[in-house]
Amino acid sequence: MTNRVYNFSAGPAAIPLPVLERAQAEMLSVNGIGMSVMEISHRSAHFEGILAGAEQGLRDVLNVPDNFRILFLQGGASLQFSMIPINFLAPDQTADYVITGFWGRKALAEARRCGNINVIYNSAEGGYKSTPQQGELNFTKDARYVHYVANETIEGVEFQYDIDGGGIPVVCDMSSNILSKPIDWNNYALIYNGAQKNIGPSGVAVVFIREDMLERIPTGLHSLLDYRNIAANDSMANTPNTWAIYMIGLVCDWLKEQGGVTAMQTRNAEKAAVLYNAIDTSDGYFTGHADRSVRSMMNVSFHLPNAELDEKFCSQAESNGLDGLRGHRSLGGVRASIYNAFPREGVTALVDFMQDFSQKNG
Ligand code: PMP
Repeated sequence: MTNRVYNFSAGPAAIPLPVLERAQAEMLSVNGIGMSVMEISHRSAHFEGILAGAEQGLRDVLNVPDNFRILFLQGGASLQFSMIPINFLAPDQTADYVITGFWGRKALAEARRCGNINVIYNSAEGGYKSTPQQGELNFTKDARYVHYVANETIEGVEFQYDIDGGGIPVVCDMSSNILSKPIDWNNYALIYNGAQKNIGPSGVAVVFIREDMLERIPTGLHSLLDYRNIAANDSMANTPNTWAIYMIGLVCDWLKEQGGVTAMQTRNAEKAAVLYNAIDTSDGYFTGHADRSVRSMMNVSFHLPNAELDEKFCSQAESNGLDGLRGHRSLGGVRASIYNAFPREGVTALVDFMQDFSQKNG
């Protein structure tokens, strides 16, 4: 068996080992058909079954209501930054954006190309460590939608509640915490995700869109940028990423075996607590980035006393089988991404390494 390391990468990220093993076993002949999933027509009955299975898997594990469509698209979560305003924001209209980190800023920049934007909360001044209270949010009258990022992957800042739009459709980027806990669908009009953290491999984005939102889309959009067209074609307006969609089905099967997203939520909280505790009991050697009340269960961003030590820490960790810990280039420091598939033993191994490192380099 190949030696596997503990993979703390923010995404593409660790995929559950049983999922990789099943994909390996089915590589040459998926469902006994004598071909791999990457070799069959997306229009074949074989693939139709795989696509339907992936969709049903997501519906089952997330309890997705019937009035939401599930779409599989390409272009990652980043294309959604553009598709959302292209579909829902005309030049004379306004949307509200809540900015709590790097990805919210990226979404904002694309939306500004389409219409008016009100930034109704921005934690830039505080260094992107916080989220607003619901009561701090003053929505623009007639805003077409309000957009926020549930978990800022780089800063490790996670909303602890769902924003209530008070009638304004809520659009949310859940790329880095989808499937980590149950979703209260009553709060949302559209949820989008790059798959490469908790859902599966990169190369597919998953969009959950409430059906009434499809009716608001203007006619005449480019067909592959038009949610209504993608929905009408059941995500097969063109050739989808067949491999990634297949993998999503396997990840959902694995999640069900694990006890679903509720079990994941408990497990994730336990893993994160071990790591945050190591930071908090380090006498200030390690400093967490996010405010304590909004710490992410998925991405734990912290730093050492200086950038030189950050680098030494990450490179020594790598030599010790703890991979992918370097913080994002925009923030530096260290980031441990501990998604659903990341094992608890890996967190313990990191904590042991942190204690050893701080003793030797204190
Ligand atoms: N949103 C969030 C919260 C992310 O973490 C990322 C990627 N790390 C993106 C959007 C961009 O995703 P993609 O690379 O799939 O475009």
